Amino acid sequence: MTSVSVRDLTLKFGSLEVLHTLNLDIDEGEFLVLLGPSGCGKSTLLNCIAGLLDISEGQIFISGKNVTWEEPKDRGIGMVFQSYALYPQMSVEKNLSFGLKIAGLPKGEIAKRIERAAEVLQIQSLLKRKPAQLSGGQRQRVAIGRALVRDVDVFLFDEPLSNLDAKLRAELRVELKRLHQNLKNTMIYVTHDQIEALTLADRIAVMKGGIIQQLDAPLTIYNKPVNLFVAGFIGSPS
Ligand code: ADP
Ligand code: MG
Repeated sequence: MTSVSVRDLTLKFGSLEVLHTLNLDIDEGEFLVLLGPSGCGKSTLLNCIAGLLDISEGQIFISGKNVTWEEPKDRGIGMVFQSYALYPQMSVEKNLSFGLKIAGLPKGEIAKRIERAAEVLQIQSLLKRKPAQLSGGQRQRVAIGRALVRDVDVFLFDEPLSNLDAKLRAELRVELKRLHQNLKNTMIYVTHDQIEALTLADRIAVMKGGIIQQLDAPLTIYNKPVNLFVAGFIGSPS
């Protein structure tokens, strides 16, 4: 079944058209990577799916439901950004539980979800710490945890590893892959990093200038790029 469906999406900032009648269908449980150079419209597309931008034309469906006019909180999505945006004065545990308390979840359920997320992300020993007492990689794990505890069907990631050093990026890549294999939910993951795309994706959508140039499995993109742009960006040099 289709998890997220983007239909004829056009997005303008004033007179600048950033996305041009874009179509994209993402399967339930798929790890889809949006890959492209800076400024090609990856974040804009993700923000449209999240409901953070008013779209100019087109429609967005999540789990078969037209959410084009739904508030972000009602879309069944969780989002992780490049910057961690944790509450500095709150412990890790409070950072994780805060949104759930506001949503009115019972205490027992909150505790259960935090325990599970902490286990999956291996941050059990960090729950009492404040963000300032964490490394960059640990902070990003907590940020992922905040999306995780919400128990959503669709995760949106906007370059979540790009502030980390190469070693941590490689580590968290492996963890994200494992996370997806455990949770089996839909993930839409924005990056400009070819290695991340090739290692994480079930399919990669290569973007340029607000247009999807190619949407295929990593190996197909690598071996059979449809044009010179895709070849130059990710394909094999031959
Ligand atoms: P990417 O995430 O691929 O780097 P973005 O989606 O952030 O690209 O941006 C796509 C284009 O839209 C760029 O030309 C950028 O300058 C422009 N843009 C992004 N956000 C805004 C905004 N709020 N107002 C005006 N232009 C924007
Ligand atoms: Mg971006």
